[in-house]
Amino acid sequence: MEKDTLLIHSGGKNPLGAVGTPIFTASTFADAAKNGYSYTRTSNPTRASLEKTLAAAEGGKYAFAFSSGLAAEDALFSCFDKIVCANDIYGGTKRYLKAYRARNAVFCDVNDESALESALRGTYNALVFAETPANPLMRITDIRKTAAAAHSRHALLAIDNTFLSPALQNPLSLGADICVHSATKYLGGHHDSVAGCAVTSNAEVAEKLRFALNTKGNGLSPFDSFLIKRGMETLCLRMKKHCENAREVFNFLKTRREVTRIYYAGDEDSAGYAVNASQASGAGGMISFELDEERVPGFIKKLRLIAFAESLGGNASLITHPYTQTHASLTREEKAACGITKGLLRLSCGTESAVDIISDLENALAR
Ligand code: PLP
Repeated sequence: MEKDTLLIHSGGKNPLGAVGTPIFTASTFADAAKNGYSYTRTSNPTRASLEKTLAAAEGGKYAFAFSSGLAAEDALFSCFDKIVCANDIYGGTKRYLKAYRARNAVFCDVNDESALESALRGTYNALVFAETPANPLMRITDIRKTAAAAHSRHALLAIDNTFLSPALQNPLSLGADICVHSATKYLGGHHDSVAGCAVTSNAEVAEKLRFALNTKGNGLSPFDSFLIKRGMETLCLRMKKHCENAREVFNFLKTRREVTRIYYAGDEDSAGYAVNASQASGAGGMISFELDEERVPGFIKKLRLIAFAESLGGNASLITHPYTQTHASLTREEKAACGITKGLLRLSCGTESAVDIISDLENALAR
């Protein structure tokens, strides 16, 4: 089946012939041996339907839905003794690793084979973790190459696929062992639910994730499972529009002299373009760009359609200031090392008309 069909039809059979996914609010179930469900913290039919869809979307055997992207990462990281994390990563992931895994998490450029090898030397039960494109500078990780390098050191590779979604990229098919998402973003797509997931075909990792979900009690609620499942049914449609809009916005921003730098996975002149094109079927809807630092507050104030808000990947276009928002927890030196400046803005192109998004940007850029 094609991806757009799979996203609609892989949630399993619903009772009473229901075509839409029923929300099972029950916390407990009688006759567990007969019905397969005992207690909702452990498993729930609505969450199970979403998990089947997530597994199908990413081409994995097992999927687990968590109460947020960070909850999924928490469960995943708890399965490993050492984490080797990419330098370019969502600020909340870095904050988590620094707060809870300070003794056994290291950061490096995972695309640099010798840096990765030395970070993994002498380790046992290690996980390499990266995002591609990475938040917020769209740096690309070569998934095939990084998986081979991790495997040669007996480590596993997890890819955060939030920015492209399974409609455009399937890390497991490129050699990654685990794929995680902040499902809050493109999977849900409507700014109305916070969720996360981890997908794998590795039975041993799956058992550990199942244990973590049940033991930590951070599985996704039935209602949020319903929202993410419903969002996923239109994922392919929405991603097409996100990609088209981002391309048009990129073409517009390129012509503006106020914009001093642009970061976009679809930029043919960018360092990661060829690798992204070899592993994904699109560039996604995310663009970061730089203005002179002093122009930023006035620019944000003049936006009428695009909301100045954290998050990304929904129908409404959003703009954030990574320096003070998504990556605020990084030290000044860490921000400088990653290239996160005070003039940097990250735009999530929504599914509105590109004409309206561009006219809002044009108006805000005008002096
Ligand atoms: N991964 C990426 C790439 C993100 O951008 C985010 C949040 O912005 C997360 C993970 C964390 O997800 P959540 O906010 O759902 O916990």
